Order: sequence, then C-alpha cells, then structure tokens
Amino acid sequence: MTLKIYIDGTWYSKEDAKISVFDHGFLYGDGVFEGIRSYDRLVFRFKEHLDRLYESAHTIMLDIPLTKKEMTAAVLTTLKMNKLKDAYVRLIVSRGRGDLGLDPKKCQKASIVIIADKIALYPKELYRTGLELITVPTMRNIPNALSPAIKSLNYLNNIMAKIEAGMGGYDEAIMLNHNGIVAECTGDNIFIIKNKSLHTPPSYVGALKGITRDAIIELAKKHTIACQESILTRHDLYNADEVFLTGTAAEVIPVIKIDERQIGTGKPGSCTTKLMKLFKQLTATDGVRYTI
Ligand code: PMP
Repeated sequence: MTLKIYIDGTWYSKEDAKISVFDHGFLYGDGVFEGIRSYDRLVFRFKEHLDRLYESAHTIMLDIPLTKKEMTAAVLTTLKMNKLKDAYVRLIVSRGRGDLGLDPKKCQKASIVIIADKIALYPKELYRTGLELITVPTMRNIPNALSPAIKSLNYLNNIMAKIEAGMGGYDEAIMLNHNGIVAECTGDNIFIIKNKSLHTPPSYVGALKGITRDAIIELAKKHTIACQESILTRHDLYNADEVFLTGTAAEVIPVIKIDERQIGTGKPGSCTTKLMKLFKQLTATDGVRYTI
C-alpha cells in the first residue's frame, strides 16, 4: 500500500504528494514542524507537540489555517488511512506559496503537510551498546538571533554539525554554543548523570525544549531522581557517570564515548537503563488513542 500524505485538506499518494517550488518553506526554510510518535495506536504527548507547533508558528507570525482540534483530526485520519499502529508523524506548516522575494505577505495561505510513516533513527543495537559522539566545529545558532525554542524548517545549523560528525565516523554531533557551553545534539537533547543527579542544558543556551526531555524530567521527579537544568561544559560531559540523548525519533539512547573519552564504565549505566525502561512504559500507556 502506498502512503497517503495529507496536503492542505486532501490526501495524495506518495508519488503525487507535491508542493510548489514557490513555497517559502522550500525557498527559505520559512515554516515550522513537529515530529510526533505513536505507539500501538497511542499518540504520545500529542497536545504538547501541537502546543509547541502553534507556539513556534505564533513567534514567527505564521497563521495556521486549522484549529488545534482540526489539526488533531487531520493527524489521526492520516494515521488511520495509512493503517499505522506504530508511526512517526511529520507535521509541517510552511509559509505557503509566494513569489521569489522574501516577503511573507506575498504568501496568501500557510500550507500544511502531514506524513505518517515509520522511523528508525539509530540501529537497534546502539540502544544496547551506546553511541559514540563528537563535539563539532559548527556552533549552535546564537539563541538571541533565532530562539532555539522555535522548531523551524531551517535546520542548516544542525545539518552542518551532522555532516561534520559523519565525516569523522561518529554517530552524532554534540553542538556547543558561541560560549563553548553544551547546547544539544543535531536532533536530540542531551542529559548527563553525575553523582546520581540528572543534568540537562537549559533551552536558553541553545537547546530545543524537547518533549522527550520534558517526559524524562517528569519521570525523574516521579521516581525521586534529582534532576536540574545546568550549564555544562565539555569537561562536565567527559567526567559524567552516564550520558544519554532524548528525542521523539531517538527516544532514550545511551552514550558511551565523547571526543574519544570513555564515559563512566564505557557501558550504558544503570540510571540510563532505568529511564529507558520507564520511558518505554510511559509510551505504552500515555497518549491519545485512535483505532485503525
Ligand atoms: N533538539 C533538536 C534540534 C531537535 O530537532 C529535536 C527533535 N528531533 C530534539 C532536540 C528533541 O525534541 P523532542 O523530544 O521534542 O523530539
């Protein structure tokens, strides 16, 4: 069965799902998006993802032509039409079709695209063995120039970092901000564990406010694991007891080496493994249900 992709109120087959070359999402990366996951017909943290999408759109002054209720229905229908129990949903809102100039006023209406498919960001085995990361020369965009809380269609900063990590043969890049402070990875947030406490960089240093990050912070609180936002340097990473990444696509994945320094024992640690389990349990129970 070919995928059915939603574009502005109509579902198209994968081959016919096309947008204009004059769309400012394509021309300028002018738009916002979300990556949402469903687990056995439960859409995980659906409201939180929609809230973030609408907040990102609000900040860039982009009017989304659907209410949240209508958007919820469009996403759920796309999941049903594709008969997907477990899915990764890419929800894109671009500024829409304009002319070759930058002016967003020339774009009459925002365009909405919903793609429901599968995703495997990292090979399964790495969840058991752990990732090897490297810090890269490309620094994170300066937060005061473009808020890292906006999940925009412009990922060039992250893509350059990803290329640099790949060239060195590493699984993922750690991005530092303009002050050399740890911000996040190219598509994931980062956590360290030191003396049984969790630490993650605050958004203002250059990190997206990840929904998975929030879920981990909540789980830590619930299970009385100390957790706080902290300013972290590379030195803090190298000397952490454990490190892991979080993201909708990646979920929770351990890190065992950074810049060729072994992290902790060099194996996924007990706190990371515990949080991976708790996160799995959460995704199995917490979500908006749909039928297929
Ligand atoms: N940081 C960046 C730059 C991202 O693109 C993402 C999403 N892939 C994340 C962090 C993780 O966010 P979430 O848990 O909401 O997927």
